[in-house]
Amino acid sequence: MPDDQPLGKLANRFPQHAKVVIIGGGVIGCSTAYHLAKLGWKDIVLLERTQLTAGTTWHAAGLIESGGFFSATSLEMTKYTLELYRSLEAETGQATGNKNVGMITIATTPDRLEELRRVAAFDRAFGVEMEELSAGKIKEIWPLAYTDDILAGFFSPGDGRVNPIDVTMALAKGARTGGVRIFEETTVTGLTTEDQRVTRVVTDKGEIQAEVVVNCAGMWAREIGKLAGVNVPLQPTEHYYLITEAIEGIHTDLPVLVDPDKYAYYREEVGGILFGLFEPVSAPWALDGIPKDFSFGEITPDWDRMMPYLEEAMKRIPALENAGIHQFFCGPESFTPDLGPMMGLAPELDNFYVAAGFNSLGILLGGGAGRVMAQWIVDGVPDVDVTEIDIARMLPFENTPKYVKDRAVEVLGFMFEDRYPNKHFKTARNARKSAFYDRLAAAGAYFGVYAGWEYPDWFAPEGIEPKVDYSWGRQNWFEYSAAEHRATRENVTMLDYSVMGKILVQGRDAEKHLNRICANDIAVPDGRCVYTQWLNETGTIEADVTVTRLAKDRFLILTADGTITAVQAWLRRHIPADAHAFVTNITSAYSVLNVQGPKSRDFLSSVTHADMSHDAFPFLTMQEIDIGYALVKALRVTYVGELGWELYIPTEFSLHVFDTLVEAGKDFGLEHIGLQALNTLRLERAYRDYGGDIDNTDTPLEVGLGYFVRFNKPGGFIGRDALLRLKETGYRYRMIQFLLEDPEPLLHYGEIIYRDGKPVGYIRAGGYGHTLGASVGVGPVEKEGETVTVDFIKSGSFEIDIAGVRYPAKASLRPMYDPKGLRVRS
Ligand SMILES: Cc1cc2nc3c(=O)[nH]c(=O)nc-3n(C[C@H](O)[C@H](O)[C@H](O)COP(=O)(O)OP(=O)(O)OC[C@H]3O[C@@H](n4cnc5c(N)ncnc54)[C@H](O)[C@@H]3O)c2cc1C
Repeated sequence: MPDDQPLGKLANRFPQHAKVVIIGGGVIGCSTAYHLAKLGWKDIVLLERTQLTAGTTWHAAGLIESGGFFSATSLEMTKYTLELYRSLEAETGQATGNKNVGMITIATTPDRLEELRRVAAFDRAFGVEMEELSAGKIKEIWPLAYTDDILAGFFSPGDGRVNPIDVTMALAKGARTGGVRIFEETTVTGLTTEDQRVTRVVTDKGEIQAEVVVNCAGMWAREIGKLAGVNVPLQPTEHYYLITEAIEGIHTDLPVLVDPDKYAYYREEVGGILFGLFEPVSAPWALDGIPKDFSFGEITPDWDRMMPYLEEAMKRIPALENAGIHQFFCGPESFTPDLGPMMGLAPELDNFYVAAGFNSLGILLGGGAGRVMAQWIVDGVPDVDVTEIDIARMLPFENTPKYVKDRAVEVLGFMFEDRYPNKHFKTARNARKSAFYDRLAAAGAYFGVYAGWEYPDWFAPEGIEPKVDYSWGRQNWFEYSAAEHRATRENVTMLDYSVMGKILVQGRDAEKHLNRICANDIAVPDGRCVYTQWLNETGTIEADVTVTRLAKDRFLILTADGTITAVQAWLRRHIPADAHAFVTNITSAYSVLNVQGPKSRDFLSSVTHADMSHDAFPFLTMQEIDIGYALVKALRVTYVGELGWELYIPTEFSLHVFDTLVEAGKDFGLEHIGLQALNTLRLERAYRDYGGDIDNTDTPLEVGLGYFVRFNKPGGFIGRDALLRLKETGYRYRMIQFLLEDPEPLLHYGEIIYRDGKPVGYIRAGGYGHTLGASVGVGPVEKEGETVTVDFIKSGSFEIDIAGVRYPAKASLRPMYDPKGLRVRS
């Protein structure tokens, strides 16, 4: 079939071939189709099992907001959505119900106020209008609201609401105008795969040969994923709103009122109030599968469960007490285990994309998500930071029915919870534990969770319960973690580092193909460890790993466990199928203990017969050493900026090695540390964290990792040409380390950086520099449309905005702690 769109009757004929098949006619599928057509792609087919919007989209409350987000990518998507929805009606002639009445989010506790001030400062720097209002002012705007307990509100005038059905129909109309063919009453029943590609989409109307398939099937996306062996963990969950009869004083221009402390929001609906809920304990739905004929479906509401929230709502809007109820609605929405959507190319396949799991934000993310998906499909590389939304971050265990169900109970309400730093989910815990878990718990560990792993975050001193009192200021464990930090700088400490993902690449061709993937040179002598980034053709970072050569034909890759699926997919896609190079995930084969600090050599020498001296065991090398009865791979490397070793211990020897080290450690004052200390230590030394302060939109050159790029190695590497071009054109920004001059305030994330009074970037990761004596942060500094030179950094005077107050900060291109790296090489 030609690429051109067939005309007339032919357009209605069921196709046998399509360039792109989109599964699902909700807001996400229609937006993806619309944007692919806008980018000029032809031969696009959208399949919908019943009618457009019949899944979740039809009953959404239609709230749209660009502000209120603490993530650049979410803001990017919501801002775009708002712009698109404003112009869609004029473009397509289809009404969208777009009303930019504004939105007021209120704070009734000091912590919420601090949070909203921080978020407002972040949003404003991204061009979102956000005004802080007094309780009195809110009362003027919303006379029916009780405002005595309100400390302040944050008003974003551009926000508001749309009609979700109309918006979706407008997107569908725009897509059709662009040549997209939409087939309703067509159910996808199977997907045929061959060589890691979907080749055919099987439907109840026939089969379509497809070059690209996009799974936009909402809560059905999990099942559609299974048809192709793709992991899409999500859980439909009950989601509620109530609409009253008309209430005097409620009018169409009222801004949406959001009361996160009471898990509620309010907006006008046909003269009454639509009151929506994000209750803290919610109910997963359809645990045995979505009913087969569910279309424009509803769930019978559980009144009793909702009553306490309704009572709170009557306190906020007393007029609700006497209002008649027009509709009490409950519908299913898909929630993901980490509250981020799942978008992008599925790691298991090479032409199958997913856009699902929008966690009650599908309408307001819809425009932006469709744009991102289309751009990603067309260009092959996304143009926004996707580390928090990429489907490749999901792990297989997260799709077990019990995991998605247990977590779903918490995630809906998490949306309205205080967004304190280091907040962890409480549900679906204890899924993955290292061999050391019980020992660490006995030593007072407070456990956080990362990629399902229970990891020690910090340790409580004896007699103190390891429990967090959340706040935006110094949390109760601040001093405990500070002591762990200092012990690492001054003595020796040990950290359970088993969460590291470990991948073995072996075979005659391993060196050749790995060296093309790595920007650094991994053709090194046996035992040598190389820190490197993996780049795509545009020169931006796909992975940040170490590669240790174990033998001529064997390499060990170490990566954060949350990135392990993406890293394996990248290897699979870039090592030819017929190459003699084989990839194995060996994460579970080794436990890891990370021993760091100036006394680490003396300490480890006391438990091994190996020579740990600098000459015998140089920096960035791995050797097998004995510890007690065990043989352990010791890697001399650091992520904290001190002398130290990571010990890779065969799992069955884990406790023996742990006990041996703890016993010997008594003579050295060995202390346990957690990941909080690791983070503050690495921030002082300005080591990068992929998914934290660097992401897929950064090049190594701009984030200060140029030292690890070997432009002249034989055979080159993926992304080399793009980096050479960047050197010519100049850097878009530079990653800078900041140290506040005032030792009191805390940097966490998202604080805006000012140079000579003008915003130039934001802090991507912050923590307290217990050695440097104040908060440390790293973030990119830009210069509006111009390249950023070293002089621009050195000549500027910097301040950082924390919740509306600016604090002077020192800025440095080099690490402020041990800039020459002398301690790690000692
Ligand atoms: C009560 C409630 C209030 C909400 N309020 C808001 C709000 O105010 N703002 C906001 O942004 N979001 C809100 N949401 C969330 C929003 O509705 C969703 O995030 C969004 O509609 C998801 O869109 P989707 O396209 O991913 O899924 P869907 O709309 O469910 O679309 C998926 C489509 O795929 C089709 N499909 C499934 N299987 C197949 C198959 N095998 N073959 C072909 N087609 C198939 C389905 O029929 C369905 O039409 C709310 C949700 C609820 C439940």
